[in-house]
Amino acid sequence: MTEFQAINNILSNPSEGKKVRVRGWIHRIRKTGKLIFAVIRNESGIIQAILFRDNLPTEEFELAKSTLIESSVVVEGRLAKDERAPGGYEIRVEHFEVVGAAEKFPITKDQSDEFLLDNRHLWLRSRRMSAILKVRSTIFNEIRNYFQGLNYYEVQSPVFQSGACEGGSTLFEVPYFDSRDKVYLTQSWQLYAEAMMFGLERIYTIGPAFRAEKSRTRRHLTEFWMAEVEAAWLGNAEMMELAEGLVTHLVKSVIEKNPQELEFLERDISILKEIELPFPRYKYAEILDMLNAKGLELEWGADLGYTEEKMLTQELRTPIFITHFPRAKGFYHRVDPEDDKVVLCHDLLAPEGYGEIIGGGEREWRLEILMKRIREFDMEPEQYDWYLDLRRYGSVPHSGYGLGIDRTVAWIVGEEHIKNVIPFPRTMRRYTP
Ligand code: ATP
Ligand code: MG
Repeated sequence: MTEFQAINNILSNPSEGKKVRVRGWIHRIRKTGKLIFAVIRNESGIIQAILFRDNLPTEEFELAKSTLIESSVVVEGRLAKDERAPGGYEIRVEHFEVVGAAEKFPITKDQSDEFLLDNRHLWLRSRRMSAILKVRSTIFNEIRNYFQGLNYYEVQSPVFQSGACEGGSTLFEVPYFDSRDKVYLTQSWQLYAEAMMFGLERIYTIGPAFRAEKSRTRRHLTEFWMAEVEAAWLGNAEMMELAEGLVTHLVKSVIEKNPQELEFLERDISILKEIELPFPRYKYAEILDMLNAKGLELEWGADLGYTEEKMLTQELRTPIFITHFPRAKGFYHRVDPEDDKVVLCHDLLAPEGYGEIIGGGEREWRLEILMKRIREFDMEPEQYDWYLDLRRYGSVPHSGYGLGIDRTVAWIVGEEHIKNVIPFPRTMRRYTP
């Protein structure tokens, strides 16, 4: 018997009369008395199948007549040229088999966002979701390739953590047996990465991060995926090169590996193709001036939220860095030795209105200064006991960053909302299915 074939392989090398055998799902079906048109979908694409009453056993034709979309099927037949069929060839079916019959599929055309989210378990098989998830898969793989190519080690950090890295307000607390200490889900691997760095020097991870984000923006999830890196001896400027190197690598790889998906998603790849190194760099102070020139009235210390970042990046075609943020940005950032109002850190903003995809910087590595910084944030150094040990035993300058993978996927595929680039999105109001 002929082997099962991927639909894209069949269509990339077709010939009249060639015998083919595919398994997949009924994507569309249209029936008349003597004729049934079905479009079969599998992971690799879609192909039209045509069933003539006289071309296959009667009971198989009758079965096909009662088969609904999304049933899983096996079809065998011969290829025939047809200009109107997607891909230019169709299968003239000689054998039709139902593997799992579908009930009436609840998702029809023109459904609301909420309905599709409620039925996410079924919507995931749509061609749109599949295209996005294929790009997402490339991005995960290429993050690894990029760092492995530079001799970084992949390491894992705990999801259960005992302290805050990114501020208490977005911590998810979890019950942990009868522990009296508080236990939280990870917001970032950073503090743990700084410990793991002493043995391996150059490390990265890909893992989930959890933040109780109360803001409902198009770019915040409560559970999202980050690629994080930490490296001994590197300063902020070198970390920025590692950041723009990664982002350029990801964009180039997706253009090369997912042309069909980008086309299906109607992504304008001319913009992606123009992206070049180095990305422009602006200081926070310059950014304030730029935004104020556009009519905002921001003062020193103002947070750059989604509105501001959208204004900044809407017309851009290349990512930009923002550096030298106010020292209130975080206790672990190293204060700029040349200007103590600011810290040596960076955010990378994606163009076309997307905004921040990376946050990173140089860490304060000297014990006394780090303790002062912790107090500056009204915290007690005792809360960071093991973290401070890292400054006691052979500390070195070091830096790192975190790339929000979901935001990066959203930008590269040109998807408006972050929830549409992850299989099962989690937001303040949604934790099902
Ligand atoms: P924002 O100000 O947009 O909330 P942040 O400054 O809190 O971001 P970082 O702490 O620097 O973000 O985290 C590193 C990266 O992780 C961000 O640049 C972003 O790409 C991603 N990220 C952060 N929070 C979220 C979230 N809630 N959902 C999805 N991605 C996120
Ligand atoms: Mg945040």
